[in-house]
Amino acid sequence: MEIIFATHNKNKLKEVQIMMPENIKLLSLDDIGMHEDIPETSTTISGNAAQKVQFIRQRYDLPVFADDTGLEVFALNNEPGVYSARYAGEHKSSEDNMKLLLKNLEDKRDRSARFVTVFALDMDRCQTLFEGVCDGVITKSYQGDKGFGYDPIFMPNGYEKTFAQMSLVEKGEISHRGIALKKLIAYLT
Ligand code: IMP
Repeated sequence: MEIIFATHNKNKLKEVQIMMPENIKLLSLDDIGMHEDIPETSTTISGNAAQKVQFIRQRYDLPVFADDTGLEVFALNNEPGVYSARYAGEHKSSEDNMKLLLKNLEDKRDRSARFVTVFALDMDRCQTLFEGVCDGVITKSYQGDKGFGYDPIFMPNGYEKTFAQMSLVEKGEISHRGIALKKLIAYLT
């Protein structure tokens, strides 16, 4: 089967591509010639995932899925959460987002956090949601140069390295996105 993954994020696309079984042909937004920004104006992670899917579904007659992710930091009342991409402003800079997060955590003892991903799938006119959560801590400094977003400062529980120090396969085994994607793949196959 052919299915669209509605993201402009090349890192997310790689993470998902590597986990997809061969009988599912993943179409990126570039593959279908879709270059517009997809709106994400909901106040919830699942709302944003659903919004992205609906946006594409209205324009293309193929099954489509999209994800939205938030980083919830407990000492900051679960911020940045749904606003993770624009935590330090509308310019959506990962560098600035991490800097602000480290600054806001300077005087906090509790550095625990979790990533939450929701995939929304629209297939056969039916919408289904799949959630994945990964618990961990925010490190005090940047570690590693792989991955994207907050990866250099997020260390999953049970590991001595950040997501940015892991291979795509290793991250996919335990990450919020990997967990949610395994549920989505099980549903599709
Ligand atoms: P969105 O799902 O693209 O809206 O992501 C929200 C924010 O979380 C952006 O700043 C992303 O860079 C960041 N983000 C999403 N997924 C990950 C991840 O797997 N690791 C680190 N940061 C992520």
